[in-house]
Amino acid sequence: GETVVAEEDLDALSQVSFPPCMRQLHESIRKTHHAKHGARLQYGLFLKGIGLPLEESIKFWKTELTKIMTREKFQKEYLYSIRHNYGQEGRRVSYTPYSCAKILSETIGIGDCHGCPFKHNSAQILKNRFESYGIPPSDLQIIMNLVFEGQYQLACSKYFEIIHSSALEKVICDPNEFFKQSQKIRC
Ligand code: SF4
Repeated sequence: GETVVAEEDLDALSQVSFPPCMRQLHESIRKTHHAKHGARLQYGLFLKGIGLPLEESIKFWKTELTKIMTREKFQKEYLYSIRHNYGQEGRRVSYTPYSCAKILSETIGIGDCHGCPFKHNSAQILKNRFESYGIPPSDLQIIMNLVFEGQYQLACSKYFEIIHSSALEKVICDPNEFFKQSQKIRC
């Protein structure tokens, strides 16, 4: 059956099994206790896709957002959209997590932390980020060369192979697939 993920697992999982787009979102939300609409959608649907139940999702967002807003504001303005992502409100559609193609096509503005870091972050930010993740310089160069060629999903697949010391059978095409393949190796 489906694995169930708990809110308290997210910090550890984000470091070992999240693709860079989702690790970036997770760390940004933990740090700023804030996420714009696009970030809440991209990350919220990913979390649902990895098996975080609705109640755990509410716990995550409530813990963070109520650090900068009242519980009342959270209930009134944010709870609905979290439940909506899980098909519990409105037309009761269960929304699908975003694919890489969808994320790569997003328009990212200043101050946004969603999108695909390979495409939407500057080369310098990307390099610093991956250095802080412990990627060795020679591997980092391979990733950056793919980024400069605009081969973002190949760069992401390479990143996967480096952090797992394991070859992928096919190119990463969505963040949830990245997570699934990672958990297969890690568990
Ligand atoms: Fe996320 Fe896909 Fe970009 Fe990888 S290539 S960081 S999974 S959007």
